[in-house]
Amino acid sequence: MDKILVTRPSMPPIDEYISEIQELWESRWLTNMGSKHRKLQGKLESYLGVDHIELLVNGHMALELGMQALNLQGEVITTPFTFASTTHAIVRSGLEPVFCDICRDNFTLDADLIEDLITEKTCAILPVHVYGNICKVDKIQKVADKYGLKVIYDAAHAFGERYDEIGIGNFGDISCFSFHATKVYNSIEGGAVSYKSSALGARLRKLKDFGISGPEEVCEVGTNAKMNEFAAAMGICNLRYIDAEVGKRREIDERYRYWLDGIHGIYLSPKNERVKSNYAYFPVVFDKEKFGCNRDEIYNELKKNGVFARKYFYPATNTLECFHGKYDKVKLPVALEISQKVLTLPLYADLPLTDVDRICSVILQCRKGE
Ligand SMILES: *Cc1c(COP(=O)(O)O)cnc(C)c1O
Repeated sequence: MDKILVTRPSMPPIDEYISEIQELWESRWLTNMGSKHRKLQGKLESYLGVDHIELLVNGHMALELGMQALNLQGEVITTPFTFASTTHAIVRSGLEPVFCDICRDNFTLDADLIEDLITEKTCAILPVHVYGNICKVDKIQKVADKYGLKVIYDAAHAFGERYDEIGIGNFGDISCFSFHATKVYNSIEGGAVSYKSSALGARLRKLKDFGISGPEEVCEVGTNAKMNEFAAAMGICNLRYIDAEVGKRREIDERYRYWLDGIHGIYLSPKNERVKSNYAYFPVVFDKEKFGCNRDEIYNELKKNGVFARKYFYPATNTLECFHGKYDKVKLPVALEISQKVLTLPLYADLPLTDVDRICSVILQCRKGE
């Protein structure tokens, strides 16, 4: 029996990649904003439907540089229900994460709880479009405007998504995308910040290249977060197939819903009519009382059958070992509960539907009682 992993990177036909990188052997321009970098930047701005993006080495540095470019200081209100990167980026930037609980319906930051967490030190809100589920962007912006806060979206899961037909990167002050190998769209490793003000663009370009502003001029303490030409070439090739890949993901999503939707003790986040989805992940919440079996038991049963689901996102980031004694006492009942009950099932464009059937049959066989 073949192993089924939770994800599998998309790759273009190898000939296409070779032809895309061929000219690099003549130009010897391997990084530092060369022709592939410029080409990908333009193509992505148009695909994402945003005015500007800045390409970066990965999604994590998009978060760190985004916060630096906005000159943030103090406290950042954020979600604990995310990948470690989101919280690490805040802490590594010398900022204080203030954790806000999540909504039960789509697992994003609960906008109704933000106001109670605002202090005079609050400078920004950093929500995550987790699993590609879109945050309550209108409510969040309202609170941000009322208190003069910046909004940075972690859009690592939301590549290519649209909300009311508007590219998701247009919400907030900036949005940070990840093009990591395991994401819906990849440039091997890579990321981008989308932004509106051209002043931010100039700042991001300096920050990602050591703060260099001229041949003999370094005006600030930047870092090295440039996307290289080989990564950009991979991004160019993968972008040609993105719509087909998302289409295949949609079929897989539908097949999972066919088997699992409406089952007693299983909760699936509902489809949102206003969102053009990328079908990035398929999270399932199991309620032991009703289903008869808990998340960990189902995880182990799948594993015995060669299916490697992931407990995304467990543990909640405020309880990560590295934050022991710091943030783990914050009361976040919904995030805690969901993180203990959720399982993310395998989902990638080339996953055969017959594998989806097999995964669901293992899950449904775990069901007890009723
Ligand atoms: C993947 C991911 C990141 C980090 O992106 P990298 O490109 O891997 O650095 C940040 N936030 C979330 C929610 C992610 O899933």
